Order: sequence, then structure tokens, then C-alpha cells
Amino acid sequence: MLTLHGKGVSGGVAIGKARLLRERTIRATRGTVEDAAAEWARFEKALDKTVEELERLYEWSRERVGQKDAQIFSVHAMIAQDEDLVSVVRHEIHSKNNAEYAVSQAADAMAATFLAMEDAYMRERATDVRDVAQRILRHLVSSTENAAAASFVGDKQGSIVCAEDLSPAQTVQLDRREVLAFVTAGGSSNSHTAILSRTMAIPAVVGVGEGLCHIREGAVIALDADAGTVYVDPDADTLRRLRLREQQHAHARELLQKYRERESRTLDGHRVEICANIGGMEDVEEALASGADGIGLFRSEFLFLGRECAPSEEEQLAVYRQVLERMGDRRVVVRTLDVGADKQAPYLGLPHEENPALGLRAVRISLTHPELFLTQARALLRASQYGRLAVMFPFITSMGEVEALCELWHKAQEELRAQGVLFSDRVEQGIMIETPAAALISDRLANMVDFFSIGSNDLTQYTLALDRQNAALEAFCDSHHEAVLRLIRHTVESARRAGIWVGICGEMGADLSLTEELLRMGIHEFSVSPPSVLPLREKVCTSRIGALVEMKKE
Ligand code: PEP
Ligand code: MG
Repeated sequence: MLTLHGKGVSGGVAIGKARLLRERTIRATRGTVEDAAAEWARFEKALDKTVEELERLYEWSRERVGQKDAQIFSVHAMIAQDEDLVSVVRHEIHSKNNAEYAVSQAADAMAATFLAMEDAYMRERATDVRDVAQRILRHLVSSTENAAAASFVGDKQGSIVCAEDLSPAQTVQLDRREVLAFVTAGGSSNSHTAILSRTMAIPAVVGVGEGLCHIREGAVIALDADAGTVYVDPDADTLRRLRLREQQHAHARELLQKYRERESRTLDGHRVEICANIGGMEDVEEALASGADGIGLFRSEFLFLGRECAPSEEEQLAVYRQVLERMGDRRVVVRTLDVGADKQAPYLGLPHEENPALGLRAVRISLTHPELFLTQARALLRASQYGRLAVMFPFITSMGEVEALCELWHKAQEELRAQGVLFSDRVEQGIMIETPAAALISDRLANMVDFFSIGSNDLTQYTLALDRQNAALEAFCDSHHEAVLRLIRHTVESARRAGIWVGICGEMGADLSLTEELLRMGIHEFSVSPPSVLPLREKVCTSRIGALVEMKKE
């Protein structure tokens, strides 16, 4: 049994078979470069990363599985730096060929030399050369292309997906009838991948590091996401212990069922709504089963990820309509497209950015690509007849943005009107308060919209100046930070003065240690991942918060 330690980002226990998500072979194509020196520097950087990675793998494996099995990684590091291989790459690049092509030419030549040898052992080294070349190529191509080049191998049923990392696009495509849980070598608790695992109610452990490479396809995995532990080939005792924990989880869920039909009202009579966050139609049943009062955040961008082109108006309409119909008279808040940063849609052809979290994302894309926004707006408006729709705009930093978005929304209405297409005129319009700028001017913004929804994940990221994707910063990521809480308090106060309702849809809403404080501030609506709805309702129903300012929501 091998025990790996990481961070549990979506609780629960799962026992299943390892299903490896492997990088698909990268096929290098030939290209001409103008600046051979820059291309050589690019190759050197990829080579350094490759060697560093192999050295880490070697150290990790030597400590845990012994020198003999770890040896392969130091052999690979030697191959990567082999002078014959590197000199072919140098020659190709100086002949103005691109680095990817140069690496594949060099690896082919070296593999051919091994294959021509008498000795069977030496002939097998050709495979090692190709593995090393793939590792260098992966560092050469961008991370987005890399993620898109991954594919599953192996059986599907009852599987625990094991991957270096999962992009949000890959996560959202996991089929939860087949996937019981996932484990990744990298990853952080605030990433969209982690958030999605909670929304999808899939136990997940991230950050197990180098240990991942010791998981074989089909190996039995017992995953304890509450403790952040992954057991590979677990012994009988561990299996027994985790099966018992599975039963305890099921029992705890059963006990919470009594809150399913209850109002979310504190012991001293303060009522709030507890809604669910979803990423698509597949999450709606989970939301309903959890007893959610509505959908407080539909991350519509997940409809746009992991595909070749943007979904058409008709395609979007079908999804929004289905969600609205299924939710009946409960409110469904759809957030307009929030791509960019870690949620990349390559077909949008957006430029590579050094700081994507501070770059072209969310409404900045809607405003620079109005057709994309208008298509979504028309689909939403058309769907509005089928339920109780509210829309909200993400990543707002100024009043000008809200004005421009409202104008575009109005344009979509005019277009539909001109075509005689029916839509509801009661669609509430709100904005996310997830930047310090928006929180600070919330008193002004409050007069422009029907509601606010506080995105505490990004609000924390931008207030504390820390990249939510960076696992190394987890220790600094304090969403209880006084600065974040003050911005939230100011936002709620602005909403109260303007007489609009305010919700919280970031992960903080599910943090039970903050529930009473948020209730006391006057938050009207909490929107959390479906598995968090009932624990939160229990918390609300057993809390007494004292004086509160009663406000009208509608
Ligand atoms: C947030 O930032 O808190 C939020 C809800 O949006 P996302 O996590 O999708 O960025
Ligand atoms: Mg956000």
C-alpha cells in the first residue's frame, strides 16, 4: 500500500479503480523561425523544466519506493541532456526550424540508433528517448494546448481519475455516472477545478505531487478526501475503515434530510434563501435534491469550454430553457460568460497574457466581443419566458461597464422585439461584486441594478493580491481577512441603503464558521454547491443572530 498526501478540496470517501488521464502524444509540425537565438532560448527553458521535473520525480521516488525503481527518472534526465541529442536540436534550430520539430528530429535520430542495436535491452531504450522527447515537447507547447491534448485511457465504470492536473474544461466533462472521485498532482483549493468538484459532489484530492506517477492504470484506490489522503492498493484494514466512513457519510446525509423542505430561518426569525451554484443542466437534479431555494449562480461559461466553437443561440436557449423549466417558480440567476484566466476557450483566439487573472476576462470579453454577449443575451431573453430568470454580470469594476452592458442587453431586447420574439420583461439584472473596485463603489452601483451577488473567491484573490490558482499561496489565502469582510460589509450596507437584495455566491457562503457573521451583516441569499445546501440550512436554522435589519428582497 502506498499512501499519498494532498489536500481534500471536495469532501467524501471513494473506493474505485485508477483511471489515468494521460497526455496524448504531441506530434510536432515543422515551422520556420525568424529568430533562431530566441527559439534556442525557448528550447533551453523547456529543457531546464524537464530536467528539474525528472530530478524531482527521482528524489520523490527514491525516498518512497527505493533507488531501484527511481533510477528510471535519472536515466531520463541523462537522456534529456545527452550531448548528441542536444547537438541535433541545436543544428535544426540554427537551420531556422522550430524547437518542437528540432526536438522530434533529434529524438527520432537517437531512437533509430538504439533500435539498430543488437542488444534487446538497448533497443528498448528507444521508448525512453520518445518519453523524454514528449516531456520536453509538453513544456514547449502552451499549458492550454497541453490540457486539450489530454485523453483518458482505461475502463470507465467506478473510476477514480488520476491526472497531473485537470482544467475546468476537463473537469466539467467528467461523467459522474462513471467517475467516483479524482486525484491530481497539482491544483489548489480555490481553483475552478476544485469548485467544480464540490458543485458536482465528486470527492477530490489535489496536490499529491510526484506520487501520482506511481499510480498504475486499474490499481485499486481508496480516497479519503476529508483527510486529503489517497491509498494506492489499500490493505484490508484501510478498506474496512474507509467503507465504514462511507456509511457514516451516508448516515449524516440522511439526518440532514429533515431540513430539505424547511425554510431557512434562524431561531430568532430571520429568513434567508439558500440556493445552489451550478455549472450546467447536469447539476440541476443535484440542486433540487439538495432542497435549494433556487439557483443563485449558474456559471454559464461552462457551456463554452471544452469545445471547438462557441455554442449557438439555439443551443444556449435549449439549456437555459431546460434549467428554468426544471426549476419552476424558483429564481435562476445566470451569470453571463466569465471566461479568461483559468477558463480558456481557445476558439476565441484571445492573445496569450502574462497575467491572465488581471487580463481579458469576463465582461471585458463581453464588451470587446459584443456579438458573443448579444448571442447569449438573446438566448437568455428568449428563455426568460419559461421560468424566473435573473442575469448577472461578472467581474465588474466600474459604472461605465454596467452602463455599456445594460445598453447591449437593451440592444438584444430591441432585436428580439423587431423580430416579434416574446420574452419576459421581468428579468432581474444584477452584478457580481468580486473586485475591490466594485465593492468600494457599491453605493453608486447599487442604484444601477436589481441585486448584488458577492463573489468572495475573486474578492479575496484581488483584495489580498494572491493568485487563487497558485497552490503555494494557500497558506496566505485568508477569506476571513478583515479587509475582505469590510468590503463585504460595505457592499451589504450599500445594497441596504438602495433597497436591493444581496447574495453571496463565492465559497465563503458555505463556510459555516462565517454564517452567523454574514447573517448579521444582512445577506439575503447564500448560494453554495449543492452538497453544502443542507449543512448550511441546518446552521441557519440553529443560529440565533440577535438584532438584524429586516429588508425587503423583492
Ligand atoms: C467568485 O469569484 O466568488 C465566484 C463566485 O466566481 P468564480 O469562482 O466562478 O470566479
Ligand atoms: Mg469570480
